[in-house]
Amino acid sequence: MRVPRRFVEEARERCSPREECAALLFGAGDSASRWAWMENVAKSPVEFKLDPERVYGAIVDAERLGLELVAIFHTHLGAPVPSPLDLKYMRMWPVVWIIGRVGTMELKAWRLERGVLREVDIYLS
Ligand SMILES: [Zn+2]
Repeated sequence: MRVPRRFVEEARERCSPREECAALLFGAGDSASRWAWMENVAKSPVEFKLDPERVYGAIVDAERLGLELVAIFHTHLGAPVPSPLDLKYMRMWPVVWIIGRVGTMELKAWRLERGVLREVDIYLS
């Protein structure tokens, strides 16, 4: 998965331990070129919830530019590994899931393939 370096810089600037931070990444294939930061309506340091209308709006905006949703990003206080709740949502949103560890912004990307969790390599561009 190709991720713009600028996205990671923004994540370092805006994500804090106070609440999980989330973004949708858009592009084509396995390459992200744009992103939309999303409010975590759960306001929680250990989970995130997105407003479905804003998710829909961001997807429609990206589709107007010919882009599709390629990844969902959020942060963890600890290891950037999907939680049981993440796995549940990964089944509903079968794109790449990028998780960043708050503080270091160590990133890992994951995909569920037929129910099997696989790590996806990240290339910064
Ligand atoms: Zn998570």
